[in-house]
Amino acid sequence: MSTQNKFIPAKGIAALAAKAPLKPFSFERREPKEHDVLIDIKFCGICHSDIHQARDEWGGSAFPMVPGHEIAGIVAQVGSKVTKYKVGDHVGVGCMVDSCRHCSSCEAGLEQFCLEGMTGTYNGVERGTTIPTQGGYSNKITVDENYVLRIPKNIPLDAAAPLLCAGITLYSPLRHWNAGPGKKVAIIGLGGLGHMGVKLAHAMGAEVTVLSQSLNKVEDGKRMGADHFYATSDPATFEKLASSFDLIINTVSAKMDWNLYLNLLKLDGTLVVCGVPSEEVPVGAFSLIGGRRSLAGSLIGGIKETQEMLDFCDKHKVACEIEVISADKINEAYERVLKSDVRYRFVIDMATL
Ligand code: NAP
Ligand code: ZN
Ligand code: ZN
Repeated sequence: MSTQNKFIPAKGIAALAAKAPLKPFSFERREPKEHDVLIDIKFCGICHSDIHQARDEWGGSAFPMVPGHEIAGIVAQVGSKVTKYKVGDHVGVGCMVDSCRHCSSCEAGLEQFCLEGMTGTYNGVERGTTIPTQGGYSNKITVDENYVLRIPKNIPLDAAAPLLCAGITLYSPLRHWNAGPGKKVAIIGLGGLGHMGVKLAHAMGAEVTVLSQSLNKVEDGKRMGADHFYATSDPATFEKLASSFDLIINTVSAKMDWNLYLNLLKLDGTLVVCGVPSEEVPVGAFSLIGGRRSLAGSLIGGIKETQEMLDFCDKHKVACEIEVISADKINEAYERVLKSDVRYRFVIDMATL
């Protein structure tokens, strides 16, 4: 018996063309297949990547596009062979909804690096079909249980939503490059990703410095766990902090001079690029060879590590600082993100769709 051709009506907010304001949009979700979970989405965070893609700043965007990959909701229905979730569970979905499941990356639990390409939660295509994937600015989503995360009951769903992208995107490099006691970690940019970086690095026991454009967010940064806070608009910052850090994570969405920041690394330190500006950034050989420094990148995290991050946040009482908005405020929220005027993540309440 096949249920593949049945669909469930869904509503959301979509960009119908690059740079067009987002608007209410009706579409369909697939009826759960054997291994699928149907989720009633309660909240979805607004990641800067949503804006990059809705405005086609990286190229290749497909429209209409329902963005959103910081999804938190409640299981509404499960397929006949689902074993991990039951109706009523608090669950999340992040940046991917599928991958090949058999390549070396998938087998290592690093599905984000699937050699056949992970299936993006939106702006992608469902594997083996031509059906576009649509994201979390919507009231329902159907996802294979293997790409669904369990949200601990103690973390409210609205504050949990941004963990599914902002949280894991910082948790993964902090773990990979061993942030912890005795390590000096700097986070560039105190936005959605950056504020999670501060909280997570602090919870891991590292000494944390924020490098922000100004000192406007200093109180917030310290409250989140930063030990030090510097303005990058002040040239003295770069003199004072030369050769200081084991690890610097760059979360900035715009082009900037990475060479200046490489110079802040200690011997054998690493600058990890997480922010994705649309322009290429030149890097000088001298910035790297002097202190045997590394320039690296990191992309979200695998499913297993994302669950580990959620459980870490539960244990260490880490959650996102959010401003909940109604769906009709989406275009205003985008403009505020672009002005770095967000404290520290917008989350859409899907009850207002
Ligand atoms: P966000 O909330 O807008 O935060 C970015 C922060 O960067 C701002 O709050 C601001 O912090 C700083 N900033 C902005 N413009 C700047 C400029 N011109 N010069 C210097 N600093 C500037 O964005 P987000 O959602 O955290 O995302 C950040 C970037 O990461 C985006 O490019 C996004 O696409 C990317 N991303 C990557 C991954 C991944 O897996 N690698 C995952 C998610 C997102 P201050 O006010 O403190 O300076
Ligand atoms: Zn994101
Ligand atoms: Zn794979």
